[in-house]
Amino acid sequence: MNRLEQLNFDNTFASLPDSFHSRLSPTPLPDPYLVSFNTNAAQLIDLDSAEAARPDFAEHFTGNRLLPGAEPLSMLYAGHQFGHFVPQLGDGRAILLGEVRNRSGELWDVQLKGAGVTPYSRDGDGRAVLRSSIREYLCSEAMHGLGIPTSRALCITGSDEEVYRERIETAAVLTRLAPSHVRFGSFEVFFSRGQHDQIATLADYVIARHFPHLAGDNDKYQLFLNEVTQRTAKLMAQWQAVGFSHGVMNTDNMSILGLTFDYGPFGFMEGYDPGYICNHSDPRGRYAYDQQPQIGLWNLACLAQALSPLIEKQQAHEVLDGYAPAYHRHYAELMGAKLGLEKILDEDIQLIGSLLQIMHDSRTDYTNLFRGLGNFDSAPDAANETLRDQFIDRAAFDAWSSAYRVRLKQESCNDRERKARMDAVNPKYILRNYLAQNAIERAEKQRDFSEIDRLLALLARPFDEQTEMESYAAAPPDWARQIEVSCSS
Ligand code: AMP
Ligand code: MG
Repeated sequence: MNRLEQLNFDNTFASLPDSFHSRLSPTPLPDPYLVSFNTNAAQLIDLDSAEAARPDFAEHFTGNRLLPGAEPLSMLYAGHQFGHFVPQLGDGRAILLGEVRNRSGELWDVQLKGAGVTPYSRDGDGRAVLRSSIREYLCSEAMHGLGIPTSRALCITGSDEEVYRERIETAAVLTRLAPSHVRFGSFEVFFSRGQHDQIATLADYVIARHFPHLAGDNDKYQLFLNEVTQRTAKLMAQWQAVGFSHGVMNTDNMSILGLTFDYGPFGFMEGYDPGYICNHSDPRGRYAYDQQPQIGLWNLACLAQALSPLIEKQQAHEVLDGYAPAYHRHYAELMGAKLGLEKILDEDIQLIGSLLQIMHDSRTDYTNLFRGLGNFDSAPDAANETLRDQFIDRAAFDAWSSAYRVRLKQESCNDRERKARMDAVNPKYILRNYLAQNAIERAEKQRDFSEIDRLLALLARPFDEQTEMESYAAAPPDWARQIEVSCSS
């Protein structure tokens, strides 16, 4: 494990031509302090966790001091925002320090989010507030704990420097790790400018670094689009199955590796409602929960257009046609597993649909209902009261549970084995808005960061019973209804 000075930087993105990025230095923040440090993520870059105790640690991860080997830059990209093309975006407040190669040979981007203005800041201040940094830090690690591809979070540093949003808040820097921060919009920017050679340069770079098995193929660009399509389809199924809503699925927030990233106003669904909108700034619900799978495809069509100078139209269509079947296959598999089924039959999608319908009618807590279903007693006379009580229309639940019981009869395993399988896929703990809010308020008002660390540890093991943390699985208290999450971050 390495000291800060020994991190093994090997900066491949910085070696691309200047048209792909802008070199710059982070803008220092006064008197930075460490808010939270994530030892699990530190291992990804071979960083010795003891380094977090160094007095100059926070200086390095606000960007006040530069790590040896870093070549800081902001990445250029464009994007479709809420359906409208914005020709130039780019990292307006994120600075890529460089890529660290770990002992296993993996390269990890080390990026500071909130490290000051960049040539792409437009009217923004280049900063991130503590509140949203805590939310992203916790959610990216929660998603990782759930087994969903995501960027990771190494640490948060804070400063008392004031930042103006709807109210005065304080600045923070989130250090993000990811195998790549290239987005759909990274290609769109060159397509909109007619710079087709740059599209090929970027595609070749991405293929060489992330899809090397495609590099020698004559159809490599088509196969690359296919990989992104398949990964995105799977990611959307994973989001739907866990009840996650991203909130701002603009093409500049879509990873070419199919990672969840650029966490803004995300939310985990609580009472089941397919029309759930987690983002207060999206009143029309373009990015509502039930829209996500089709938006994933819409965004892929934007990527396909940006790659059109490299791929025949017909081939691109064929690739995109593979999205819906892949999505439905993954979704059926994931939902079938949530019901504890060993093998998914065509009819099972109806069993899932009818459960979701009665959950919708009762706004049943999505996470807790599925977790509780692991305790379903399949004996003919069992009442399953605890589950039944979560529905307003008890008769509707009884009808559904009869159908479920019949279906379980076709399976070979008993209730106990089924519960073990279900508990491994139905999380007990998710990052509920009220849990994040409690951590944020303690951090903001008392400069007490212990709740962040507690949630980080809890959410790293979301499927495990953690008896002393039982209360963290509770559905939201009434005050949580007032929490508003918007694009402001
Ligand atoms: P988002 O949808 O939050 O990922 O951000 C969309 C674009 O706005 C990206 O180019 C961001 O870098 C930029 N941006 C967001 N907040 C700020 C800020 N406070 N200062 C500068 N740029 C920002
Ligand atoms: Mg973004």
